[in-house]
Amino acid sequence: MPKIYMDHGATTPVDTEVLKAMQPYFSKKFGNASSLHQFGTEAAEALKVSRKTIAQAINAEEDEIIFTSGGTESNNMVLKGIAFANKDKGKHIITTKVEHDCILNASKWLQNQGFEVTYLPVDKFGQVNPEDVKKTIRGDTILVSVMQANNEIGTINPVREIAKICREKGVYFHTDACQSFTKIPLDVKADNLDLATINSHKIYGPKGVGALYKKRGIKIEPLLHGGGHERGLRSTTENVAGIVGFAKAVEIGMKRMESDAKRLTELRDKLIKGCLQIENTWLNGHSTNRLPNNANIGFAFIEGESIILNLDIKGIAASTGSACSSHTLEPSHVLMALGQKHEEAHGSVRFTLGRSNTEAHVDYVLKVLPRIVEKLRDMSPMGK
Ligand SMILES: *Cc1c(COP(=O)(O)O)cnc(C)c1O
Repeated sequence: MPKIYMDHGATTPVDTEVLKAMQPYFSKKFGNASSLHQFGTEAAEALKVSRKTIAQAINAEEDEIIFTSGGTESNNMVLKGIAFANKDKGKHIITTKVEHDCILNASKWLQNQGFEVTYLPVDKFGQVNPEDVKKTIRGDTILVSVMQANNEIGTINPVREIAKICREKGVYFHTDACQSFTKIPLDVKADNLDLATINSHKIYGPKGVGALYKKRGIKIEPLLHGGGHERGLRSTTENVAGIVGFAKAVEIGMKRMESDAKRLTELRDKLIKGCLQIENTWLNGHSTNRLPNNANIGFAFIEGESIILNLDIKGIAASTGSACSSHTLEPSHVLMALGQKHEEAHGSVRFTLGRSNTEAHVDYVLKVLPRIVEKLRDMSPMGK
């Protein structure tokens, strides 16, 4: 049976080059980067080189990169860190209805702490309208956070335009770029960004490592207090091996961005076209303004979960919405925000392609999927 992984939006395998780069930092070059001896300076040097690689990839300065444990931590750090450092200026934050759960749940937590959060709607393709941002900013707004691309439906937002509005109004702008990093360009200067979140395990690096870009001069409260690592913003002994792996993954991802995007866009479009040949299906998200590797398809009358389980039996790994929402039976908050009905939102499957996928994989999916859908619809109480 084949083993076809089409869930790269959930996580990716560690690239062999990345693994090779990390290896020495576990047992040979194991030093604590704060130590004064040669073991320490070796680790500190590795951190410095890694920081430089990542800063250059997004056109930032080295001292604007804060290493974290991943996207969730970076996003929490932005929301809580900006909120608490600026609470004398204002208590209003703007984000969107389609953000990742870590943004939404950190925002909810802030609401319990006395902050006010506006969740902007999106259009039927999942895009935020810059005009809505403009209209919603008030005198006491301190932060706007809009994701660069959505993790479930792949829709890309007009982040540069939104960020420009925020800069003109003197409000900090953050983008969560976890899903889009190294797939589409991210340039913190050209994009007018104040803060940006990136992580490693979505780009063929190890899990448990990420970074926050924070423009020079912006004050935030740290989440972790301790020995003063990362210029006092994120205490704990640095995950040197993870950071080295992250930097290697960024280096490879930047080199491959264009060619991977071109190849995956072709595969994606073939997959979308094939899926839409099945009756009563639709594409979730924008048809062109979407990540090169994302195909999210809605299937009427059946549940996405059943499709996933049947695909798994055939050796194909895909998902419904995000990996996180699969723990609950609630329909995807993203699809609901597009204006879909409960039963529509329940019938969606996300295929996220990656480096291992070939045209033969797409052909195989398109061969087995119609029969799975037909079988499930025959059994479905929802009729057809
Ligand atoms: C995966 C993801 C996150 C969470 O990142 P972790 O490193 O797994 O904590 C946040 N936002 C988006 C858009 C993501 O895709």
